[in-house]
Amino acid sequence: MLVETDEGLYCPKGHFYIDPWGAVARAVITHAHGDHARPGSDAYLCASPCRPLLARRLEPGTTIEALRYGEARRIGEVTVSLHPAGHILGSAQVRLEGREGVWVVSGDYKRAPDPTCEPFQPQPCDTFVTESTFGLPIFRWDPTEAVIADLFEWWEANRAAGLASIVFCYTLGKAQRLLAELSRLTDRRVLVHGAMSGMTELYREAGVPMLPTEVLVERRGREPLAGELVLAPLSARGTAWMRRLGEFSDAFVSGTMRVRGVRRQRNVDRGFVLSDHADWPALLQTVRETGASRVLTTHGYPEPLARYLAGRGLATGVIRSAWEGEAAST
Ligand SMILES: [Zn+2]
Ligand SMILES: [Zn+2]
Repeated sequence: MLVETDEGLYCPKGHFYIDPWGAVARAVITHAHGDHARPGSDAYLCASPCRPLLARRLEPGTTIEALRYGEARRIGEVTVSLHPAGHILGSAQVRLEGREGVWVVSGDYKRAPDPTCEPFQPQPCDTFVTESTFGLPIFRWDPTEAVIADLFEWWEANRAAGLASIVFCYTLGKAQRLLAELSRLTDRRVLVHGAMSGMTELYREAGVPMLPTEVLVERRGREPLAGELVLAPLSARGTAWMRRLGEFSDAFVSGTMRVRGVRRQRNVDRGFVLSDHADWPALLQTVRETGASRVLTTHGYPEPLARYLAGRGLATGVIRSAWEGEAAST
């Protein structure tokens, strides 16, 4: 059903690629993160709520078709449908049905609730291609409410101390999830780096309830930012933009904050462990729920997960990824 090529996963029976690395004729896209939605292909197919995000990533005028979640489309000899992956707004698993049975490609996914997107729906299949970004038993996430409560408490403590709170996080997905989760605890306005405003507006247009935001441009005067919460991409560190912030405490929000070495290397005051990927127990639970007899793993730690599943009697394999080591969307 699917073969590995230099351009990525290819479906010969339907003549399309899933999240291709290069420019191809037809790309089926699981979600709009940069390591999955590469520019340059002739035509794209994605889930309806992904479409505005993908359109923003790609050249104006690019052909982008969308399917509603669960809607089936015959492409060549294969029936394709997209199903919620719970990773970010519009993220989808790709289900392929043909003479070789049913295959499901998970894309990136998580099982923890997320107010910004549809929850993951397990799809029964014969072969399950699962991401394994956090495919080691050490990766176990705390409940989201606990992490968000910690983060809010940190913000409050900084306010009391007259400091701004700078939270580094990924521009698409994590920033909006934080804004949505925090809206359960406060209604304060949050300042966001300019790089985050476009995607955040698209989430708002999609009806995702989030805290009000204002873009923090480089300020002319030195307006005090004491007590403010500011969201910014890691790429903003060390830029002129940062020097305008005055006194602050900083934090990074990512699943990688579970690893002490990474925390040290990032050199931030606080690390909050919140991921948009499945942790180890969620990976195993999901594999079980699909009922798949064969599981192919990709991204992050594919070998340990494949080995574990092989030990449980499943047929396994590893699919290489062009993006190993790149933490574009963790
Ligand atoms: Zn990814
Ligand atoms: Zn992703």
